[in-house]
Amino acid sequence: MNVITTVDGFRHARASFDQIGLVPTMGYLHAGHLSLVRQARQECGAVAVSIFVNPTQFAPHEDFTRYPRDLERDLQMLADEGVDLVFTPEVSEMYPGGFGTAVVLPAADEVLEGAARPDHFRGVATVVCKLLNIVQPTKAYFGQKDAQQTVVVCQMVRDLNMLTQIVIAPTVREADGLAMSSRNSYLTPEQRAAATVLYRALTAARELLTSGERRGDVLRQIMAEVLAREPLARPEYASVADPLTLRELTEVGPRGALISLAVRVGAVRLIDNLLV
Ligand code: AMP
Repeated sequence: MNVITTVDGFRHARASFDQIGLVPTMGYLHAGHLSLVRQARQECGAVAVSIFVNPTQFAPHEDFTRYPRDLERDLQMLADEGVDLVFTPEVSEMYPGGFGTAVVLPAADEVLEGAARPDHFRGVATVVCKLLNIVQPTKAYFGQKDAQQTVVVCQMVRDLNMLTQIVIAPTVREADGLAMSSRNSYLTPEQRAAATVLYRALTAARELLTSGERRGDVLRQIMAEVLAREPLARPEYASVADPLTLRELTEVGPRGALISLAVRVGAVRLIDNLLV
């Protein structure tokens, strides 16, 4: 496994491969990341993983500096998976002095995570654009866990005529339903137990929807009720939205719905979703 920290070095190593699958990550890897790596290995001749905690997608008050990092452990996990190339640039390699371009999708900033985290998707789209240009992958793999991110990346690739095919992989969960996330490591045991409320709220809405309830307000209300019963949970939003436009639905139609949540458990902000 070749671990590379510079863009030039990566381009040089990349030249020995034809088809390559890319899994972009911020590290502190878990089974969710590894499921993307395994899918990439099955579908592409070679696999590249990027590990880069991208500062531009964090607001000043967010957790960039204390985001969990353990490069040595990550590299061991990726070596065990048979990954070919790992790209782990420093911030100064990705954003050298004089860097001045951004990829902006204004519509993304109006809803859900974009509304809650101004400029977040500008940071995400810009770094993913850079990674796709550096790695030139045939396919790039993203988790459904970050639903709006998948919508943003697909739109960017479509709008900018980028050649990479975007693959979206299902959310990997703990046995009790909690979606795996690097941020789960922040949770105390008590908060960890309370965090299952996200999946419980989502599944309550899904059950109601599959039993025939189509009114968006009723589905949002059931999630609010489940969340209200958990004293450690402070909901930010409970959404029933169109899966493509991410606009809130009055009535769920034939395209189904993206049911999603952002909830603070203590100081930890967790997100999760189900596509129904
Ligand atoms: P992150 O390191 O959190 O930026 O995640 C890197 C990639 O892994 C993103 O495409 C995420 O959506 C995906 N991912 C994170 N958690 C999970 C999970 N529990 N299941 C599937 N994919 C995930």
